[in-house]
Amino acid sequence: MNDSFAPGQDGTSAGAGDPAAGDGTRAVRAGLPEPVKYEPTLPGPVFAAHFHLPGDPTGGYAYGRDENPTWTLLERAVGELEAPGRDGVETLVFASGMAAISAVLFSQLRAGDAVVLPGDGYQVLPLVRAQLEAYGIEVRTAPTAGDAQLDVLDGARLLWIESPSNPGLDVCDIRRLADAAHARGALVAVDNTLATPLGQRPLELGADFAVASGTKQLTGHGDVLLGYVAGTDAGAMGAVRRWRKIVGAIPGPMEAWLAHRSIATLQLRVERQSATALAVAEALRGRSEVTGLRYPGLPDDPSHAVAARQMRRFGCVVSFTLPSRERADRFLDALRLVDDATSFGGVRSTAERRGRWGGDAVPEGFVRLSVGAEDPVDLVADVLRALDESAG
Ligand SMILES: *Cc1c(COP(=O)(O)O)cnc(C)c1O
Repeated sequence: MNDSFAPGQDGTSAGAGDPAAGDGTRAVRAGLPEPVKYEPTLPGPVFAAHFHLPGDPTGGYAYGRDENPTWTLLERAVGELEAPGRDGVETLVFASGMAAISAVLFSQLRAGDAVVLPGDGYQVLPLVRAQLEAYGIEVRTAPTAGDAQLDVLDGARLLWIESPSNPGLDVCDIRRLADAAHARGALVAVDNTLATPLGQRPLELGADFAVASGTKQLTGHGDVLLGYVAGTDAGAMGAVRRWRKIVGAIPGPMEAWLAHRSIATLQLRVERQSATALAVAEALRGRSEVTGLRYPGLPDDPSHAVAARQMRRFGCVVSFTLPSRERADRFLDALRLVDDATSFGGVRSTAERRGRWGGDAVPEGFVRLSVGAEDPVDLVADVLRALDESAG
């Protein structure tokens, strides 16, 4: 798959791309180049708009909108996490998750094609839908839960899956949907933002594209916007690459380097955050003012059976509904360890009343809570105290 450093040669540990390596080993070594004496383990960002290029171009780095060595290392790292040990997977990084999503949709679809989107996915998808329709593409939607997208697949060119869905946390059977789509000649893309590649590997479940916002838990510090597409079909990925070149939705070298540096701690963060998310969900379950509690890791969650089959970790987002908008606002205000902010996946917990955006079909008191890396006892205590204080 790549020529990254393979420390297994001395028999002491596995290489990062080795499918037998553990997630922690893979994350800390992902994308590292061969060691070179007196060079850093992870080379610093390469700031270059153009590279020396005498004579005829023969491939390699020429212009900064097409290729950059800092992206190359990050793309290897993401590829090793999304598809460990697998050959023929290409990964491309983008300026944001939306840049990556748009690159797949707009490079694969033509006027007259039909695409199936989730009806309950990321809140920018309705804007994307309007743009696709303006280009003469038919857009169908169906909910994530119950594999309902199966019912609208006939004649579609592309199926777009978001599982778990954001913010409702419904889950669909990716393998089942991918098989059904392929049987009808459709390509399959999965938005893997919420799960991260350590929670679920869509390419192994049959998807043609794993697409994600790296802005969330992949980088995890709330300070970088990033996106990526990993794909198995060389022709389709060629079109995605061409789209990136045409649109120029490229990450800066500094962002790419920060992302790569952050991936070294991905296993630690995902492990800790998903364990704490379960603890928070269990604490919320005992509260009478909480309804509609969702966390795919809860054994009695409607998503759990399917999630447990295809996910290895259940993510850091817990969602629930408080009795009113006012109660939710008082709760968010009373939290001390949880910032009232949008987005999710960072080391510092955040929460928001999702209805303030107006895009998602959620009750006024609906809260999306992103669990960070605080000590679980501290966070659970803060959430329960804020619930008590917001009651009056
Ligand atoms: C945030 C998010 C996106 C968009 O990512 P950006 O990096 O903000 O462009 C796409 N899909 C999901 C599920 C997201 O949560």
